[in-house]
Amino acid sequence: TPKRLVSGEKREEDVDASLRPQTLGDFVGQAQARENMKVFIEAAKARREALDHVLFVGPPGLGKTTLAQIVSRELGVNFRATSGPVIAKAGDLAALLTNLEERDVLFIDEIHRLNPAVEEILYPAMEDYQLDLIIGEGPAARSVRIDLARFTLVGATTRLGLLTTPLRDRFGIPIRLNFYTVDELELIVTRGARLMGIGITPEGANEVARRSRGTPRIAGRLLRRVRDFTVVGGKDRIDRQSADSALRRLEVDEAGLDQLDRRYLTVIAVSFSGGPVGIETIAAALSEPRDAIEEIVEPYLIQQGFVMRTPRGRVLTAAAFRHMGLPVPSSRPD
Ligand code: ADP
Repeated sequence: TPKRLVSGEKREEDVDASLRPQTLGDFVGQAQARENMKVFIEAAKARREALDHVLFVGPPGLGKTTLAQIVSRELGVNFRATSGPVIAKAGDLAALLTNLEERDVLFIDEIHRLNPAVEEILYPAMEDYQLDLIIGEGPAARSVRIDLARFTLVGATTRLGLLTTPLRDRFGIPIRLNFYTVDELELIVTRGARLMGIGITPEGANEVARRSRGTPRIAGRLLRRVRDFTVVGGKDRIDRQSADSALRRLEVDEAGLDQLDRRYLTVIAVSFSGGPVGIETIAAALSEPRDAIEEIVEPYLIQQGFVMRTPRGRVLTAAAFRHMGLPVPSSRPD
C-alpha cells in the first residue's frame, strides 16, 4: 500500500487517541448513525441486555473505531479490540470470547479479513453465545460446548461486499458511515487545534477541512503538519495563507488530491483518452495494487465527481479534466 499523507488508513505516526471524541455528544457528523446508535444504546440499557451486534461500514479514518469505543463507554462496559488479520487460529478467538464479561463490547476491525476457520466459530458465538470447540485430533477428537457471556460484537469493514453473507446476516445493526462535509470537518479541525494548543482562524480551518478528503483522520494529520509549518514560521495562529502554503509544500492540492490521485487521473485522461478503462488496466499502468486503488484512491474521487464507475470501466468526468488543467474532450459526462 502506498504511503500517502492523504490516505485514510491508520499509520504509526497518527496520534489519533489524543483527538478522539469520548462521547456521542462530542462526536461530530454522521448524524443519522449517531441518532440511531443513541436509540439502540438506550433501549439495550433499559432492557439490561447486551446491545445487538453492530457492523460499521465505511472508508478508513471515518470514525469506526472511535464509535465502537464510544458505544462501550455509553453502555458502561469493557472494550476489547482486535482485528481480523491478527486472529490466526480459532483458539485465539476462543480465548478472547471466553474472557468477555456480560454485555462487553468486542471490537473486530477489518472483520472481512477473518480466516474462514475462525469465522466459523464466530457464528454460534454471535447467535447463541456458545462456543463449539473440537478438542484433540483423529478418532479421539471430541467437541465441547462452552457458554459465553452475552456480549456485543462490533465489527468494522471498509467494504460490505467483502463480508461473507452468513457473517453479514448476523449483525442486527448495520451502520454505514459517509464522508464528512466541509462544515463538519471545520468543527473537527477547530476542536483539534484547540486540543493541540494552537490558534486557528475560521478561514484556516476551512482550508484544512476542504483538503482533508472528507476524512477526520486525514484532517488530524494535515492539521499537525500545518501546525508545524506555522509554528516554525514564527506564527501562533493558523490562517488561510499559512494553511495553504503548508499544504502546497506537502503536495496536497486545492481539492485534497495528492500525487497518486493525480497520476491516476492523468493515466486515464492521457493514456486511455478518459476511459472507459478497466480497473486491472489502471492498476497495471500505475504499478499499484488494485485493492489499494479501489479502497483509498477511488472512493473520494468518485464522491467528488471526478470519476464514474460504469459496467465498461472507469470514466473521467469533465470536472476531472478541468481540475487537471487538461482540455475537456467533447461529449464528456459532467
Ligand atoms: P476508522 O476506525 O474508521 O479507521 P477512527 O475511529 O480510528 O477511524 O478515526 C480516526 C481518527 O479520526 C480518530 O482518532 C479521531 O481522532 C478522528 N475522528 C474520527 N471521527 C471523528 C469525529 N466524528 N469527530 C472528531 N474526530 C473524529
